[in-house]
Amino acid sequence: MFDLLIAGGGMVGLSLAALLPSSLRICVVDRFPMPTESTPLPQPSFDGRSTALSFNSMQILKATGVWESIAPIAEPIQSVHVSQREHLGSTLMTAKEKGWEALGCVVENAWLGRSLLELVRQKNNVILACPKQVTKLTPQLDHVKAELLGAEDQIDVVKAKLAVIADGAGSNLCQQLGIGMQTENYHHSAIVANVAIENAHLGVAYERFTQDGPLALLPLSTIKSQELQAQHRSALIWTLPAAKAEEVLSLDDEEFLGCLQSQFGGRLGRLMKVGKRQSYPLVLSTAKEQIRKHLVVLGNAAHTLHPVAGQGFNLALRDCFALCKAIEWARENDYALGDLGVLSAYEQQQKIDQDMTRWFSDKLPAWFSRQNIPTHLISPLGFLSLTLMPEVKGQLIDFAAGCRNP
Ligand SMILES: Cc1cc2nc3c(=O)[nH]c(=O)nc-3n(C[C@H](O)[C@H](O)[C@H](O)COP(=O)(O)OP(=O)(O)OC[C@H]3O[C@@H](n4cnc5c(N)ncnc54)[C@H](O)[C@@H]3O)c2cc1C
Repeated sequence: MFDLLIAGGGMVGLSLAALLPSSLRICVVDRFPMPTESTPLPQPSFDGRSTALSFNSMQILKATGVWESIAPIAEPIQSVHVSQREHLGSTLMTAKEKGWEALGCVVENAWLGRSLLELVRQKNNVILACPKQVTKLTPQLDHVKAELLGAEDQIDVVKAKLAVIADGAGSNLCQQLGIGMQTENYHHSAIVANVAIENAHLGVAYERFTQDGPLALLPLSTIKSQELQAQHRSALIWTLPAAKAEEVLSLDDEEFLGCLQSQFGGRLGRLMKVGKRQSYPLVLSTAKEQIRKHLVVLGNAAHTLHPVAGQGFNLALRDCFALCKAIEWARENDYALGDLGVLSAYEQQQKIDQDMTRWFSDKLPAWFSRQNIPTHLISPLGFLSLTLMPEVKGQLIDFAAGCRNP
């Protein structure tokens, strides 16, 4: 019997396996094979996207020894530049003025995945069962029974004291267990690509609000570049109404860069080359239950958010960290792994953070689609500010709760 079975070895499943103590017997199952040194990661988590990690996420990763393997591939965010198209003025928030080393950092998902995988592979207590698909979870009195479908339709049955559902957005396992989802379609898509830029980004994350939606260009490291062997690179996340995103995606590279340049302006000099473009339909979805006895739902399976806020993984990492703490507490106090009371306490603890993060990620895009937001509000309301500067969220909460006048 395993202590934990993690269904889904994406960004969240692997992070949890990396954060959990080595004294637990863990099985991570993913329907894709885990690659060797030279092959790319086929998991949807580890595609051409990049992730902005907040200062808080960096602290979690440092405290749990995960940071060391990520640090060499992380590009620090030294400042955030927020502007609005067709409006004069912009704001710059810097790590220096806060006395921090960096406001956060940007990591390419492919490299983040590789680092997490290497770390997990080094742990003797973790078994990677890949490629296998968890087809069924059946809660029993004191454990969960899992059916794993492998090659040649072979089905293995394994048992775990706690099963973690981390199988991503639109979770099939939640559906199988009758866990409902509240889902809302934004009818917008995010176009993601790496862009070669003329000028050095100097650690600046740009966030620009346009009539169609926000776009961000995040600083990327050069040395580890897999595509676009350019001297200077940024990661683009560009939100557009779904139909317009389709149009923009169908442009050739030169037209695409011209269109992007006209929206973004000349802050990074000429936008010179664009890598592989991918688009992601934007939905907000929330699992109606996140815990049951011997079961926890995590990551995109629990909450899929508007990605421009850069909150999805950061929030999931906070959930993972809190779950690890709850598990440690349970073991020290002789509670069973998967005890409903312990899991309820975990859920309650995370609820405020989850509710607030979901609320802001959901509401801010609508606020920004309005044209007449006063310039002094643009900066504190910027998506990246929300991710990278916790007290901005605090101020917003006060404001939203009526405690503070903007
Ligand atoms: C464009 C974009 C930009 C983003 N930028 C940021 C950002 O800057 N900062 C941030 O914090 N967040 C960001 N996010 C959010 C972040 O990417 C997600 O929160 C994160 O990828 C969720 O990971 P996950 O492991 O929960 O799900 P997934 O990435 O979907 O992984 C699920 C895994 O489960 C496996 N699986 C599925 N079903 C089964 C099964 N039955 N059995 C076994 N395995 C299974 C899949 O193969 C996959 O590997 C962004 C999202 C998007 C779309």
